[in-house]
Amino acid sequence: VSLPTETVLKRGLRRRCPVCGQNKLFRHWVHMAERCPRCGFIFRRIDGHWLGSWFINVCVSQAAVVVVVSVIMTVTYPDVSLPVLAGLGGATALLVPLVFFPWSRTIWSALDLAMRPLHFHEGVDPYWELQADLHRLREEERIGTTELSADRPEASPPD
Ligand SMILES: [Zn+2]
Repeated sequence: VSLPTETVLKRGLRRRCPVCGQNKLFRHWVHMAERCPRCGFIFRRIDGHWLGSWFINVCVSQAAVVVVVSVIMTVTYPDVSLPVLAGLGGATALLVPLVFFPWSRTIWSALDLAMRPLHFHEGVDPYWELQADLHRLREEERIGTTELSADRPEASPPD
């Protein structure tokens, strides 16, 4: 079963379950539910699954530190205060990974799901899998009819 990639990624960016869009997945900000309370999707799909989310979080945090340090350097140059630079840079390096943590998880879950489609044995309520198929079929039907009329004028409609 493959869900529409755009929908899956949008849900990830909005801190939601990539399969069904459920948003209550975290307790105390950093405790992620083992499986989605609505569709049953088990977020940790393989051993080492969260390595991807760590990678995303490290990238975002490093980018944030670079931005903060660059802004401070630009604004205060040539009288750059090392304690201010170290303090704000350090605070960014500690806070951003914590704040971004839930997004790193849902974004990674969405990317993973976009790359490795859902299998029927993954415990997801069949309703959600069928919803995804229905959406895909409707989309194919819509694209198919426009392509048929535009690209294949010789195709005759079925009797
Ligand atoms: Zn879900």
